[in-house]
Amino acid sequence: LYNIIFTLDYEIHGNGEGDPLELLIEPTDRMLDLFDQYGARLTIMADVAEILKFKQYKDENGFDKFHYDLITKQLKRAVETGHDVQLHLHSSFYNALYSDGCWRQDYSEYDLANLNPERLESIIRDGKKYLEELLQDADKTYKCIAFRAANWSMQPSKNIVTALVNNRIKIDTSVFKFGKRKGLVSFDYSDANNEIISWKASSEDICKKDENGELLEIPIYCEKRSVMAFISLNRFYRVLMSSRHKLGKNEIQDYSEKKLNSIRSNLINKLSIPFRKHAWKMDFNQCSGRQLINALKRIEKKYAGYEKDISVVLIGHSKLFNKINEISLIPFLKYLNNNKLKHSSSIFKNTINIQK
Ligand SMILES: [Zn+2]
Repeated sequence: LYNIIFTLDYEIHGNGEGDPLELLIEPTDRMLDLFDQYGARLTIMADVAEILKFKQYKDENGFDKFHYDLITKQLKRAVETGHDVQLHLHSSFYNALYSDGCWRQDYSEYDLANLNPERLESIIRDGKKYLEELLQDADKTYKCIAFRAANWSMQPSKNIVTALVNNRIKIDTSVFKFGKRKGLVSFDYSDANNEIISWKASSEDICKKDENGELLEIPIYCEKRSVMAFISLNRFYRVLMSSRHKLGKNEIQDYSEKKLNSIRSNLINKLSIPFRKHAWKMDFNQCSGRQLINALKRIEKKYAGYEKDISVVLIGHSKLFNKINEISLIPFLKYLNNNKLKHSSSIFKNTINIQK
């Protein structure tokens, strides 16, 4: 059986711009309606760092500008109706200040994995506690057990893995094999243990398997593919959107020349994009339904003789869920529905045995 896990990063634009009503609440409501219609389940990876900022703004100003109440209502609706909410953290939001229509983030805390152990321990503890207090209200059995790092920042792994384990987070779902970044956040997941089969992660390196590891890495499914495989209508939409909301020069001016140089060389790398193969994630807000079905068929072919259940983690972003995407996702949801013996739309707690 293939456990299909739709994970949705639930956050405003990376540069701190945007209205949660438009980027979180409205698209996620539509998505939950659609998933309900087809019996699929969604896992909302809620960026608790920014949600806490929206709450703070409301408490301090007596005005719910960022629709905090609607956010909590939506997250409760999700767990009440069989969907799931798990932890995502953009650490740079904790010290963010709101001015001129934008959350000015603390870029010294942008790279999650590089925060010191005490800081990591405390923000993960607070994030988990926040979700559990909020959502046990809606479902007494709710537990926060899974995590995704901001910008997939899981290297160096030791501090972040230790902090997750200490806070009884069972699953990380940040790694995607073949992924590689250099810049404000740097990682290299080319040596990840597997592109789809989960592994007990070593606290020395999230990519490595350690039978005694206490954190299960369930990677975001990824393939190495040529640039042609990336073409879909919604990718153009995403590129357009991120060029409108990119990090400003002023915001990173405090960064050392070394970091800026690495960003520049990253840009140069990007110029050679058409000639190389790239990490292609199963992104349900950017790929068409047909592309998703074909990926699932490739997985089934490759793992035809595999005896255990396999979790297939897809990734999406609520801010990208527009009407085009909604229509193009339907064939995939129908496909899962018509092949129920082979696929179940699942959530993390159903994929592991949570005894501890
Ligand atoms: Zn994110």
